[in-house]
Amino acid sequence: LIWYMVASACLTLAVIYFLVWWSNRTAWANLLFVMAAASTAAFTLCELRQMRVATPGELLSAMRWTHVALLGVLVSTTWFVKFYLGAGRRWLAWTVSGLRVFYLLSALLVWGNINYLEITSLRRVPFLGDSVTVFTGIRNPWMLFGYATMVLILIFVADASVTAWRRGERRKALTIGGSVEFFLLLGTVQAALVHWAQLPIPVLIGPLYVGLVVVMASELSRDVLRASRLVHELQASENGLRESEARMSLAVDAADLGIWIRDLARDQIWASHKWRALFGFAPSEPLGFNAILQRLHPEDREGLRQAHAMAFAGADGGKYKTEYRLILPDGATRWISSQGRVEFNATGQAVLIRGTARDITAPKETEQETQLLRQEIAHAGRVSMMGQLASGLAHEINQPLASILRNAEAAELFLQHPSPDLDEIRAIVSDIRSDDERAGHVIDRMRGLLQRQNLDTGRLDVGTLVRDVAALVRIDAATRQVKLDVDVSANLPRVRGDRVQIQQVLLNLILNGMDALHGTGLEERRLNVSARLNGGQLVEIAVGDAGPGIPADLLARIFDPFFTTKPSGMGMGLAISRTIVETHGGRLWAENQNGGGAAFRFTLPMADTADSV
Ligand code: ADP
Repeated sequence: LIWYMVASACLTLAVIYFLVWWSNRTAWANLLFVMAAASTAAFTLCELRQMRVATPGELLSAMRWTHVALLGVLVSTTWFVKFYLGAGRRWLAWTVSGLRVFYLLSALLVWGNINYLEITSLRRVPFLGDSVTVFTGIRNPWMLFGYATMVLILIFVADASVTAWRRGERRKALTIGGSVEFFLLLGTVQAALVHWAQLPIPVLIGPLYVGLVVVMASELSRDVLRASRLVHELQASENGLRESEARMSLAVDAADLGIWIRDLARDQIWASHKWRALFGFAPSEPLGFNAILQRLHPEDREGLRQAHAMAFAGADGGKYKTEYRLILPDGATRWISSQGRVEFNATGQAVLIRGTARDITAPKETEQETQLLRQEIAHAGRVSMMGQLASGLAHEINQPLASILRNAEAAELFLQHPSPDLDEIRAIVSDIRSDDERAGHVIDRMRGLLQRQNLDTGRLDVGTLVRDVAALVRIDAATRQVKLDVDVSANLPRVRGDRVQIQQVLLNLILNGMDALHGTGLEERRLNVSARLNGGQLVEIAVGDAGPGIPADLLARIFDPFFTTKPSGMGMGLAISRTIVETHGGRLWAENQNGGGAAFRFTLPMADTADSV
């Protein structure tokens, strides 16, 4: 019963590990274990047969099969050690395998049996509650060769175990190396006691070797368990990766970024859907660097090429940042802000470049608009300055006009004479001509300077207008530590007017207000710009400050040209502003506020009732 149990246990393990090996056919240690376990099962059954034979002939035949099975056990165990420990001298493994085959074949061919030349007696002895066959015979001295090969196997296993031990795989070396050495040695000694010392006991190697099979199986099962744990961990970390990938893509989506990666070695480009959408590529369209470059505005291509070249050269740690325009297949222009980084390998060679692209068309356009607005205001500023100059230049025109008048009167006098001095009159006319030309030049000069005089009226949104000017003076206000409040009623109707000129008026009033706040305490430096409906058809825009206000006797004079109380003032700002407002059909006035400070208010007609302007 014990022998049957041992054999079936070995077979069961063999089948299980055969299946394990089948799922991963490069795990040679598993297959070798299968062979060792199956051979042990066969060996155990042969042993059982030996215990039950009744004649010497049957015994010798059973022994032959036992040796075939033993060959399987020894060779597969040797190679199992080699593969499982990944150590041991290959030539020695081949040598012992070869010698064992040679040993079996030679013994069978020459003597027909390894252990005995002849069986001399058989008898039954009681054993574990049963009776088994024991025997005596003439020993085959060739058995000594077999023992020698056993010594070689033990040497091979010891050597492999030492190598594995030195490599740091101590537990493996000890359990596998140790148990193989132990069981093989014990088996050999037991066999020697029966066959060489001829003790009247049966051979008990099978039940011994099952111990070895169990140790090998438990070692392998640790590996299987470790592998499955590894798979779990991998799955867990894969889940983690997927999670962080999901978070990443959420962040990328939120930032509205397109992402691309260029593998330089394989010259492949991968890009996210968002990136493809930005650059106008279809989701599955193959990408090439040149094709991408073609999407860029011709003027911007060189810039990107240079930015990449610098990054490849390792400047700024391989990072780059640039802006360029795309010309999309439908002809539209899109501004892109792009940044990225080059990755280098250990030898400092660029292997990969990855980057992000963001659509900055809207902010770019606003920036350009602001710049344009600034230019316009600057132009308007020049216009207002010219206005101031104009009054100065009026003197210059007055002077030649007066001279012309005087000359004309003189000529009239000469002509009343009966014989007028024609030379004198010619000289006068020539003076008149040159005075006239001088006046004409003065006017031409002014006309040249004032290129944009015409009113360029349109329907204006007061909120936008006020906020644009507020944005323009924001930095000025900050440096003067003036707090600017803007308060525009909702749903104001549009007004009709020249945007730049109205902005110029507002700008004048705000700058005056800030001037008035000069010297007041930090707390009072507040300026309020508001716009509201005044009556049914006018929109009123007011600039109120918390400054000293305007002395009552000056209230009437501040709008006069050249009236100023400022050391470097021109006194033309309010005069021109009033002219502009009045040309628009509105009114501009000043008042002192109850709580202190001055307020300048002007009205503009609503667009739909002011079409005549
Ligand atoms: P300038 O600013 O060159 O003096 P303006 O015509 O703009 O010319 O202003 C004329 C005068 O009106 C100023 O010198 C100042 O005395 C007075 N004034 C204008 N705005 C204010 C204000 N917000 N508070 C007090 N006085 C003001």
